[in-house]
Amino acid sequence: MIKRISHIGIAVRDLDEGIAFYQKLGLTLEGTEEVPSQKVKVAFFPVGDTRIELLAPTADDSPIAGFLEKKGEGIQHIAFAVDDLPEQLEKAQEEGIRLIDKEPRPGAHNAEIAFLHPKSSLGVLIEFCKEHSH
Ligand code: ZN
Repeated sequence: MIKRISHIGIAVRDLDEGIAFYQKLGLTLEGTEEVPSQKVKVAFFPVGDTRIELLAPTADDSPIAGFLEKKGEGIQHIAFAVDDLPEQLEKAQEEGIRLIDKEPRPGAHNAEIAFLHPKSSLGVLIEFCKEHSH
């Protein structure tokens, strides 16, 4: 079951510049983290019970580097917090939705994540996220 929006992922070229901008808006930086599986460095800003997640590439073959090249900076994905990730993926597949990740993989914040294919989700890259308290 989808519980709420976990976070909104925003691609930036320069993480420090991104952090400085969201701090100007008055948001508080919760922390940064490198996610080797996605070749990104991430910065989190809590907003109520959701977060803004800034993503900057750490390598030229990072998916975020590809996104920045094609589309420039901006909203890259929306993540829904789910209570059971394998079950949610199975349900999506039964509905004929294409998946990028058939199996959960490690994300930032100790979470397990999986992406749906944007070609079958009307152009929006959707992430399912099973959060773990830390
Ligand atoms: Zn995410």
